[in-house]
Amino acid sequence: MRKKVNLDQRLKRVFLSGGVVGVIAGILFTVFVADIIISRKEAEFESQNAKLAQEKVDLQHQLNKYNAAHNNAEFLAGNEEGWALVLVNETHPLDTSYAPAELYEVESERSVDARIREPLDRMLADAEKAGLSMYVASAYRSYDQQRTVFNATMQDWIEQGYMPLDAYDETKKSVAVPGTSEHATGLAVDIIASEYEALDDRQGETAEQIWLMEHCWEYGFILRYPPEKADVTGIIFEPWHYRYVGEEAAKEIHEQNITLEEYLGE
Ligand SMILES: [Zn+2]
Repeated sequence: MRKKVNLDQRLKRVFLSGGVVGVIAGILFTVFVADIIISRKEAEFESQNAKLAQEKVDLQHQLNKYNAAHNNAEFLAGNEEGWALVLVNETHPLDTSYAPAELYEVESERSVDARIREPLDRMLADAEKAGLSMYVASAYRSYDQQRTVFNATMQDWIEQGYMPLDAYDETKKSVAVPGTSEHATGLAVDIIASEYEALDDRQGETAEQIWLMEHCWEYGFILRYPPEKADVTGIIFEPWHYRYVGEEAAKEIHEQNITLEEYLGE
């Protein structure tokens, strides 16, 4: 009888301890499973967060591009990311009263928006180091200065026998109508070779322009009016006109062989 009791008790103990082990195993298993679920959820949240962050970046880029094209003066005056992307052309005029907040005189009487001082100086210095000789022939031009240039060019055509309206059309091909010139942004520079100063297609064959066309994007500049894109930009090939757009955009525009208009989707 005593033995049986002992056996019962032992069985009970075994059963109980087994139960305890089972409970512990159960808890451990639950913790283990919970851990896996939590890790999976965390990974899921992480990838969702990364996706949302990317979407936010993409949306910001889209917004910047929209502002660059449609609120150009306001966007240019601010320092929001993408300010250098502003589009100024015949269909996207710049407020005639716009002037850069701070100018930097890159050469005597040739100033640019002070925000592009560093990349412009670096590009010109590197070109010089490469044994080239060039200078900035034109930079920031106010609305009034642009009007003077436009009128003078139009007068040349009239003197060559063109009727005023035809002279206006001819002038428009090489000089932006006042209010539609990129030079008013302070982000555009006309750079010409010291040994060949004519503003014609042959300017593009100088060693200076060949170097600039190849390297300008590294400094955030683009050749703004390429030869095969006159129908997009509305301006004929200008191998001397470079425009600062920022390094990221310049790289993309260079690699894809597109214009600022195409980059902005305008
Ligand atoms: Zn120019």
